[in-house]
Amino acid sequence: MAMHQFDDEVEKLAHQVLEYSLVRLKNDPPLDGPKSPEELEKLAGQTITAKGLGGEKTLTLFKDVLARACISTDHPRYLAFIPSAPSEYSNLFDLVVGASALYGGSWLEGAGAVFAENQALRWLADLANMPKQSGGVFVQGGTIGNLSALVVARDVARKKHKDRLDQIRRWVLVASAESHASIKSSADVMDVHLLLVKPNQDGVLTGPLCESAINEFKLTNPDCEIFAVVATAGSTNLGIIDDLKSIGTLAKQMEIWFHVDGAYGLAALCSPTTQKLFTGIEMCDSFIVDPHKWLFAPFDACALIYRNPRLAKQAHIQKASYLDPLEEDKEWNPSDYAIHLTRRARGLPFWFSLAAHGTDEYAKAMDKTMETAKQAAALIKQNPNLKLLIEPQLSIVAFERIGWKSAQYQEWSDKLLKDQIGFVTPSAHNRKPILRFAIVNPWTNVSDIEEILATL
Ligand SMILES: *Cc1c(COP(=O)(O)O)cnc(C)c1O
Repeated sequence: MAMHQFDDEVEKLAHQVLEYSLVRLKNDPPLDGPKSPEELEKLAGQTITAKGLGGEKTLTLFKDVLARACISTDHPRYLAFIPSAPSEYSNLFDLVVGASALYGGSWLEGAGAVFAENQALRWLADLANMPKQSGGVFVQGGTIGNLSALVVARDVARKKHKDRLDQIRRWVLVASAESHASIKSSADVMDVHLLLVKPNQDGVLTGPLCESAINEFKLTNPDCEIFAVVATAGSTNLGIIDDLKSIGTLAKQMEIWFHVDGAYGLAALCSPTTQKLFTGIEMCDSFIVDPHKWLFAPFDACALIYRNPRLAKQAHIQKASYLDPLEEDKEWNPSDYAIHLTRRARGLPFWFSLAAHGTDEYAKAMDKTMETAKQAAALIKQNPNLKLLIEPQLSIVAFERIGWKSAQYQEWSDKLLKDQIGFVTPSAHNRKPILRFAIVNPWTNVSDIEEILATL
């Protein structure tokens, strides 16, 4: 029964694990990068054996081989995709959560954890001016958050149209052509039609644009029923915020669900400087924001918030005799509000940092990243080799390298990582290759941007 005994050998390993964690937290991490399966096979060999490698040897293998084959997403010059920049406190508290065997699915089992998570969710709901009865749950990521919200939207629509369900051939979801890939994925999983609407010339989706697309669609599809419209508050590619107010107004008129996907962008609600960019958010029926993206929390946490959580519970609660003791419970069970049952109390690292530092620090960290993005845009405009695509609304700075073809972008990106300078991957806009800096890390300084730009 050696596995569950805290003996001297385990104690020694515990110190080594904590020491490794402290060193990783304390120092600037190396950028590192992937290796091929063959290289890793050669370096790591077969790790799963009948007798085991022993704790120390397995830890060394992780430190020297496996960790070095993972890019450090919190590196100040990791600007690809959407990086992560957890605060020191949130990372430290993740160790505590890992050691504590917390069950975050029900009040009965995890009341203290759920209470704390709910206060963190309350903070986000208040920043969005949502009503007092609003609430939700931390789920794994924006993909599950969007899907869970849209499943509720359809459930509500099914109930509303319950007397004529046999006349509805297909349910329809409306979103911008620039919306995140997870919206398409949600539509596929739910087997609903996705009506993609082309945004205006600035990339912004508006209510009137949705309305004309819907009217045109209805002409040829009279037996389809629209159940929700999704606005994006901070598109992943360019950081563009849709016109929440006019889309919300249209949703209200049409009596359909209004969901706001703010996985990246809604983090900026936390600073008074940027909060006003999201006028109209208060009209939504549900929204998501990923603290693991731009709210300084470790992977993985998406805050999913509903205006009326009772509707979400009706759609998502799992019923079985072995779950009855939970259902009688009138308290808040996080499992009831998304597609999941067992859940890690994944909002706790975010909560701990927020509670310990206070919300003002979040506004300051947010403003710092916004300022770095502004300065990056200014540097790009000064550089004759580069062309800024649009003035950044949030902290994504997109630009072209004049004269380069797709292959050159990729070669440059590969070399930047190989030289361990930074991680910036090519993207595309209007089928033209572009580069983008996604700046979510208060550690990223203008000097980091300059170092990357010097290679262009
Ligand atoms: C990242 C992102 C998502 C998906 O979130 P995950 O946490 O990666 O699942 C959804 N929508 C937008 C706008 C995003 O930027």
